[in-house]
Amino acid sequence: MSLRPPCPLPENQPAAGHGEMTLAEAQAEAGRCLSGHSCQGCELCVLICPDLAVTKDPDTGRAVIDLAYCKGCGLCAEVCPKGAISMQLDQD
Ligand code: SF4
Ligand code: SF4
Repeated sequence: MSLRPPCPLPENQPAAGHGEMTLAEAQAEAGRCLSGHSCQGCELCVLICPDLAVTKDPDTGRAVIDLAYCKGCGLCAEVCPKGAISMQLDQD
């Protein structure tokens, strides 16, 4: 598991959870970032992830996304009250 550094969305790329992404775009998402500085450890993302890809690090109290299991649905980014998770299109 890894906690990715903050990585703001490009200006011309709409964020997930704001009704601006098509389903195909959302499904094409594979990379996302979690800003540990913003995460308050509320665990909403842990609860909503359908793939059980998010856990809470017991040492830091912050959410961690396992990209090996994440399918890029964007639900975690949508529910996060702190804006700690951003979606990015997979460039690979
Ligand atoms: S929903 Fe946001 S603030 Fe809450 S644990 Fe997840 S990343 Fe952290
Ligand atoms: S994008 Fe979807 S599958 Fe990936 S961590 Fe968030 S809720 Fe889970």
